[in-house]
Amino acid sequence: MDTFDRFGKGMVSDSSDSPVVKEGVVEKDIIQLNRLYSTFSRIYQVIINVHEKDEVLRKICTIAVAYGKLQMAWFGLIDDTGRYLKPVVFAGKEQGYLDNMKIDLTDEKQKIEPIVQAVHEGRCIFCRDISTDPRTVNSRDESLKRGFRSSITLPIREKSKVIGAFTAFAYDLMMFDELENQLFEEIGQAISFALDMIEKEKQRSLIIEELEKSEERFREMFDNAPMAYHELDDQGHIVRINNTELAMLDYTADEVIGRHVWNYVFDREASHERVLNKLKGNEPLSQYNEFRLIRKDGEPIAVLAQDRLLRNDKGVVTGIRTIFQDISELKKAEQELLIAKEKAEESDRLKTAFLHNITHEIRTPMNAIVGFSGLLNEPALDPGERKHYTEIIVQSSNQLLSIISNIVNIATVEAGQEKVNEKQINLNATLRQLKDQFILAAMKQNISLNCTTKVPDEEVDIITDEIKLKEILDNLIENALKFTMLGSVDIGYDIKGEFLEFYIKDTGIGIPAEKHDEIFKRFYQVEMDSDRRFSGSGLGLSISQAYVQLLGGKIWLISEPDKGSEFYFTIPYKRSAFKKSDGFTEKKKQIVETESPKTLLIAEDEDLNFLLLEKLLSGANVRIIRAVNGQEAVEVCKSNPEIDLVLMDLKMPVVNGYDATKQIREYFPDLPVLVQTAYVNDADRNKVFECGCTDVICKPIEQEMLLMKIRQQLDKVN
Ligand code: ADP
Repeated sequence: MDTFDRFGKGMVSDSSDSPVVKEGVVEKDIIQLNRLYSTFSRIYQVIINVHEKDEVLRKICTIAVAYGKLQMAWFGLIDDTGRYLKPVVFAGKEQGYLDNMKIDLTDEKQKIEPIVQAVHEGRCIFCRDISTDPRTVNSRDESLKRGFRSSITLPIREKSKVIGAFTAFAYDLMMFDELENQLFEEIGQAISFALDMIEKEKQRSLIIEELEKSEERFREMFDNAPMAYHELDDQGHIVRINNTELAMLDYTADEVIGRHVWNYVFDREASHERVLNKLKGNEPLSQYNEFRLIRKDGEPIAVLAQDRLLRNDKGVVTGIRTIFQDISELKKAEQELLIAKEKAEESDRLKTAFLHNITHEIRTPMNAIVGFSGLLNEPALDPGERKHYTEIIVQSSNQLLSIISNIVNIATVEAGQEKVNEKQINLNATLRQLKDQFILAAMKQNISLNCTTKVPDEEVDIITDEIKLKEILDNLIENALKFTMLGSVDIGYDIKGEFLEFYIKDTGIGIPAEKHDEIFKRFYQVEMDSDRRFSGSGLGLSISQAYVQLLGGKIWLISEPDKGSEFYFTIPYKRSAFKKSDGFTEKKKQIVETESPKTLLIAEDEDLNFLLLEKLLSGANVRIIRAVNGQEAVEVCKSNPEIDLVLMDLKMPVVNGYDATKQIREYFPDLPVLVQTAYVNDADRNKVFECGCTDVICKPIEQEMLLMKIRQQLDKVN
């Protein structure tokens, strides 16, 4: 083997580090040097191009073995304890040399070993002849066994701290001069530098990765923050906007980026001015400000915003950063709370006023009743005084009754228990009746009360709930008279298509426009203070309104203070199918206009009821037979086949009206049986018809209705 064909330049006999140059080897020197340079240059390439620590070390070993004509090269690194150096990579004919290799850097015996020295002293250690070098005493046998005759060890640094060593073995003895020494030192430094760079690069990558992650986290936070966020440039254009705000406005980023922010504000003009002023620094930045944005669909959104001016290094304003929150729900809740509070306060005020009034309204008639009742016992009372006191008591009782019935009525309406009970009435007659009722009071007040019934009587036989209609008119007329000191009260109605429109006009004190809705509220009175001039409970109009609505109409008013009031309300115009009888002239009372009277059987056990019926039928051209119980009724029918109609009571002794009707039906299938009853519900009514009766008439019986029903029944069989 050519001993010069290696790193070394010739045989060496001593162990010193100084190279000994032999003569006649100049050409080989150059070749060797070239090889050395080419090896080092390859190693440099690796250092420059490879960025992975283990890979760099492995490649350097490989190059050293392949091009440096070395038999084995390996890298050892100091472990985490700082005590041991362990092999990490190698190249070449290792032949088990590194098996279980673990160099204890603190071991006194090993201290002289070249590798330990290189690590401790941080310099290159050449061992030109392992067989004679005293430093190799511990490892010599293992090396020579594998043919390793010389070695070189370079310390490897990272951040100037030795972290390991590179060792290469040659089969030949080596000789090194100053230049090679230097080259090896440099290569050691280059490897250290490379490792430093790799470490730095690793750190840099980690930092970049960390930065990217944190930027990602920030972006995620920015985009989906619970707060909406945008940034404007110095012209008021939107340059950044987060998802929260985009979702709030229902726009995409493309639709808003680059556009002026005031395009998305409800009050555009004001916003335009405000933003530009802020950018010019003319407007102080308030801590928070409230305004409304506008969604794509035009819906406004209330927001609470906070602005921050953005400035460059020179302090010049470059934009505005705004964060804000949708406070629509909050605003809505606030508004609802305010309304609820106002309502509660109003209701409290009304209740207090009501209690105050009602106490007064009840106490006044009660005082009169109690006081004058006591006086009635005075023995010295003359008949004139007694009459006067009695009148006061009756009048006060009626007043009290009306207040109580008002309270009961409103309670029934509120409980939803008020039902409509329709029947046929003649509207003109009802109005005339009401006029009669109030005329005296009007005269006493020196007010003219006019009732106009333009439509002929026969056209206003209508079906409605008379009690409720009367109650409505009653309340409105009473109010009109109460709040009018001078002038007149006019009542009447017009037919307006499918509705009847009533009016009650007065020339009284009038009502301010802002109270027109209020007066329909329970207990509300325009004058609510304790020194109010007018009596009343504040319930009349709310009852009237509830009744009008129940009847299927509406109520409203036209009124101005000092100019009087006009109350209007409507109800459906339901004309009765039956022809109204034209008053009760003797002729019209007749059930039949023929010579021969009709025979009626009245089955009625109560004498008073019979008498009443007899009275109601007097002059009706009828012959009456009476039966005092159901059984008698059946027998009378059998023995008097001329009977034209039976008027049957239901509650009778021996045989009741139901059974009697059934039995009569068996003998006289076509005989009309008109049942008089105070039935309450549909079940009762059905039961009556199941017995075979032909019609029913409700108690209390009205003459007109009675005659009409009898006439109808007789018409059917004739
Ligand atoms: P009351 O008459 O018992 O006070 P209402 O509910 O009937 O209660 O009326 C409520 C309020 O409406 C009255 O207290 C009064 O202030 C006002 N009002 C009603 N009708 C008239 C009217 N014709 N003229 C002036 N004010 C009226």
